Parts: sequence; C-alpha cells; structure tokens
Amino acid sequence: PAKKVAQWKYTTCNYCSTGCSIEIGLDENQKLVTSRGHAGADVNRGKLCIKGLLEHDLFNSPGRGTEPLIRDKHFHPFEQTSWDNALDTTAEQIKKIQKQYGRDAFAIISTGQLLTEEFYTLGKLARGCIGTNNYDGNTTLCMASAVSGYKRSFGSDGPPGCYDDFEHTHCLMAFGSNLPEQHPIIYWRLKEALEKRKFPLIVVDPRVTMLAQFADIHLPITPGTDCVLINAMLHVIINEGLQDQAYIDAHTQGFEEVKALVQDYDPKTAQHICGIDEDKIRTVARLYAKAPAAMSIWTMGINQSTHGSDGVANINNLNLITGNIGKPGGTSLSITGQCNAMGTREWSSCSGLPGYRYLENETDRQEIADFWGIDPEFFPKKRGLAETDIFPAIETGEIKGLWIVATNPMTSMPNTGRIRKALEKLDFLVVQDVYQDVEMNQYAHVYLPAAVWAEKQGCHTNTERRVNLIDNALPPFANAKPDFWIFNQLAKRFENGKRIHFPDQPEQAFEEMKQLSKGRNAYGKERTLDISGMSYEKIIQARGIQWPYRESDTGLKGAPRLYTDGKFQTASGKANLLPIKFVNNNEQPCQQYPFWLNSGRVVEHFHTRTRTGKIGNCNKFSPTPYMEMNPDAALELGVEHQSYVRLTSRRGDAVVMVQLTHRVPRNMVFIPFHFHDCVNRLTLGLLDPHSRQPAFKQCSVRIEAV
Ligand code: SF4
Repeated sequence: PAKKVAQWKYTTCNYCSTGCSIEIGLDENQKLVTSRGHAGADVNRGKLCIKGLLEHDLFNSPGRGTEPLIRDKHFHPFEQTSWDNALDTTAEQIKKIQKQYGRDAFAIISTGQLLTEEFYTLGKLARGCIGTNNYDGNTTLCMASAVSGYKRSFGSDGPPGCYDDFEHTHCLMAFGSNLPEQHPIIYWRLKEALEKRKFPLIVVDPRVTMLAQFADIHLPITPGTDCVLINAMLHVIINEGLQDQAYIDAHTQGFEEVKALVQDYDPKTAQHICGIDEDKIRTVARLYAKAPAAMSIWTMGINQSTHGSDGVANINNLNLITGNIGKPGGTSLSITGQCNAMGTREWSSCSGLPGYRYLENETDRQEIADFWGIDPEFFPKKRGLAETDIFPAIETGEIKGLWIVATNPMTSMPNTGRIRKALEKLDFLVVQDVYQDVEMNQYAHVYLPAAVWAEKQGCHTNTERRVNLIDNALPPFANAKPDFWIFNQLAKRFENGKRIHFPDQPEQAFEEMKQLSKGRNAYGKERTLDISGMSYEKIIQARGIQWPYRESDTGLKGAPRLYTDGKFQTASGKANLLPIKFVNNNEQPCQQYPFWLNSGRVVEHFHTRTRTGKIGNCNKFSPTPYMEMNPDAALELGVEHQSYVRLTSRRGDAVVMVQLTHRVPRNMVFIPFHFHDCVNRLTLGLLDPHSRQPAFKQCSVRIEAV
C-alpha cells in the first residue's frame, strides 16, 4: 500500500521488451514494498502488467544464490567458496581447456536479460581477453530471425517503427503475436489507439489467441506457411496495380524478381498450402495496400521457424512494395521478446563486435582493436557458432567448456533431452545466475551468484529502440555481485585484461559505448545506432530516449522512426526486395503423430520461470503446465477436461493436464513453454539457415490418455 512507502525510486522493468518505466517503493526500513508504473513515461503512461506490479517481490524470493559454490564433478555436492577462488578456478579452467584444445573449445552463452553496459563488458572479456569465437546469446531462440531479416532487407538491424505508429496507422496486421499475453502494455497502447480511431486489425495465427479474439479478420494459418500467405497477398497487390510504384522505383531494388516469383502464388493455389480462404487473402491484400498507412507487427510465430528470416524479409517486402516504411503508421515492427534483447544485438558482441560492427569487416575489427588497445589479429574474421550450434559441438567434443550467464537452456532449448546429454560431456561448466536452484546448476562445476535487476545499474533498449535506465534501489543480496563486477574481476585474470581498460562503474562503460557509437557511419550514411547525445541524467529526465540520438540533437525525444528519407544501409542506399520461395520442410502431422504442437507464453510467467516461478501471485494464477486441446479431438480420443495425457514426439515424451478449449483447431495442441521438463522435451531442433533460430512451433505429436 502507498501509505507504507517512504521513498520511490525510478527504474525500468526487467522482463519483456515493452520497456515500462517503474517506480519501486521502499518503506522507512529501506525494504521494497511495492511497484507502480511511472505516470509520466511515454511507453506505459502509469500502467504495468502483473509481472511488473509484482517485480519488487524478486528481491527476497526463495532460491537466491548467496555465496559462490564449487565442486570437482557435477554429481558431487557443492561447497561454498570465496569469490577469489571461484574466479581463479574459472580463469584457470578456461586457460587449461584453450591451451589443450584451442581458443574456441571454450564457449559462452549469455542472455537478453543483462544490462547493456554488462553486455559491452562481457563482449570485451569474451572477444578481447578470452578470445573465443563461440560466444552467443539466448536471443538466437527469440529474435535472431528478425535481426537476419532486417539485415537482408534494409542492410542493418534496428526496428524502423515505434508504438506511436498505432496512433497513425490505418491497418494493422499481426503475424504470430499474441500481445495481450506476451506484451500486455503494448497491447494496451494498441487498444487505446483503436478506441480513439477505428482501423482494421488483422491477426494471422493458427490459434484463436486473445489478440485474435479482438481482430476484425482472423486468419488461422497452417503453421510455418506465412511466406505463402504474403506471396499470395503480393500476387494480388501487384496484379491489381495496388503497389506504390513511385516508392519502389525510388527506394528499392529487386522488384522485378519478386513480381515474377509471386505469379506462382495465386490465392487459389496458396489456399491449399496456407489454409486461408482465397477470398480472404484478396480482401486482406486490398485492405493493406489501399490503407493510407499500414503496419505489420510480429513475434515468435514468425521468428521461431525454419522460414523465420524469410518470413521477416517477406513482411518487409510487403511494406516496401506498399510504401509503408519510415512513415507514421507505416512500418515493419518486430515486437522483441526479452527486456534487453535489443541491447545484446547492439552492444554484446555475441555475433560480432560492439555497435553493430561485424567480425567479417576489417575496418570494424580495426576500430574496436584500436579503441581497446589490442592487436586486431586477436579477433576471428568471421562469426562463430550460434547457441543452437554450440550444443551439437559439445556432443562432438569440439567444445569442452561452457559459461552460462543468466539463461537456462535445460528448459528453453528445443529437444531438451539432447541438451542434458550434451551437458554431461563437458569438462567444465560455470553458471552465473541470480538463483542457485536454476536447472542449469545441476551440471555446474562453479556457480557465481549474481545480483538481480534493481540491485544493479545500467540501461536497456526496448522494442522501439528506446534506451532506458535500471537504477540500483538496493545493494546486492547476501554475497551476490552485479554481473558488471563479475566480468571486470574475471577480465583481470587474463593477459589482455591488463591491457584493456575495464571501467569500475557502468556509467563509465556507457561513456565508452557513446564514443564508439558517435557518427556511426555504416555504409556511408549516418542513420544507424548512435547514442552519443545520451546521458543517464537525460535518460531519466525523458523516461527513455530512442536512438539515434546524436550529440548535436536537441530536446529529449530521439528518433521515433528510421528510414524516413527512404535511404537504407545497403551499398546502393536502396532496400532489397527479396523473392521468397516457399520450401515446405516443416515437420507435419502424419498418421503416427497426428497433431501439430504449438507453444507460447502465458501472461503471468516469463521465460523459464526462474523469477516468476518464485513470486507467489504469478504462480497462484498459473501454477502448472497444461495443454490446450480442441473438445472435438478430445471426444474422439476419449480424453476429458483436466485429465492427464502423454504426448510423444520423435524426440521424447511429456505428461500434461488437458484444458479443453476452442482456442486451438482440431488438429493442434498448445502448451506454454515456461515449464521445465515439459513442452521442450518434444520440440524440434531444426534451424533456420540464416538465423540459426529453431522451429519451436512446427512439430508433431501423438496423444494417449494415462
Ligand atoms: Fe514489464 Fe513487459 Fe509487463 Fe511492462 S508489459 S510491466 S515491461 S513485463
């Protein structure tokens, strides 16, 4: 209750990428007692979802790590140790493995949950000191396809739109995105815009999700066939002359190739592949193309597929061909998953070097080596393995040691039975996490207890490129340490760590990032990541600033949109229109496995429940896994509501409670992905060839009553 609060502290939510500004309330004993949305914040305007409202409960949640732990074998009991010993042992083991098997035999997997200054510092350590090329983030499981699709179409990553576009659009198409449960406050922004001014909402999703229930047109698509639907829409748009030819001629390249390809995707043919009625395809295509401004949003329904990167590139095709990039209400806006997945894309060095620099680019390598004061030859010349390729490399013995930072692949990766077997083969595993009881710790040799959320300081970038601040409201719990401190201390134990400057404070790291971003001039144009005009003070004042925001920029608004002048980050300055041919490589229902298996989020939980599973009221509303099943299919199999069934796929099996609902079609079941040893025992590890993102949402199962 507000009356108990002696002091409010400003911070930003640490769950999803919406980026809500929060105030957390401390009582007179400096105990956190409540959270509330910041009324003056552009993003959430005083609102929070259930996770944000209960976020203060994280500080004293059960299972928190209190001291570093160590053991020789993963099946021995852990012993408490000092930070010095835990870090010395970690550094020694990394060096030993690298000496015996080569630098890349030690891999690092981080997360989209860290703060940007932490990503930057981990990048320095991984790329500049440890020198492994096998460093990636769990963002490969969520946003890698969006990154890849943006780069292929526009020449650079970075979502071009913003939430304000809801206020200006005349047609919104949502692909595989269930905003009310995944990003509740973005949904609230959309709903507010719809209440002020009616425009068509089209939802493409095989389930009747909450968002689909609000849609004017719901397109219950066959999983993994979005490219076919978009090609058929482009067929209608181009053949009826509805394209924006002036925009295409001035700002794109490749139109003739796309035009030729989509001739094979007439709505009648497409209907048989994607399952959407041909007349509906025509209606939707005309609505979208004729709208004065139209926008597309998408989430994991597009990204988590073997066609994920193609799906994103084809959404971009749709928007470029209809002239809907860089104008109010006309955009391609990927709704990011994690709170700081954008920060990892910008600054982490997971797939390259900081500030959207790439290992393949000699100038980029030289710039970072000069800035850090090391030899550019220390950097590899191309990207190493993605997270999804690191585990197979452990299986084959190519990788012998692993450092896991704030992620939980034993629950989040597809086909988790295989992950468990891979972990057993490691010579050395170090796990750095807020919680000691995280599943990954079962295989750890060293455990490093990390501070949580507002026990530390640094920035996030949200879905609409808005940089906001997490401020430390409390000191770290027990002997846990901020990730920033852990990276700095480990760096001191490597030779290059003595050459490279590792600042003591996150704000000093932010100053380095600002310098590295100044006048970023990729492909000869000044319209990429530039945060040189920002400061912590300005960020708090503005409750977040959208990049690019240069030193010369005035006011505190930043840039709401990219590509407003129709110039892109390609060599020619034109956007690429890419012909996207559909190849049906989905695992599909068959006689032996007759149901599609789909997975996704529930509003109460985040990721693998390492945090929300510890919060009483989140658990109370969503305590156990369940499976949505269509009542007609259940009747056929003799399965009852709230009974238990065994699901079996080609990878494994899982027992789940049944919830009967018409939200899923007769040939599909849906299970939330948050729970350990559940849906990801069954899912498929087939990868997108461009992004290496797994096809979580296209696999098949059979169901038996137990
Ligand atoms: Fe946090 Fe996302 Fe909820 Fe906002 S919508 S309070 S950012 S979890």
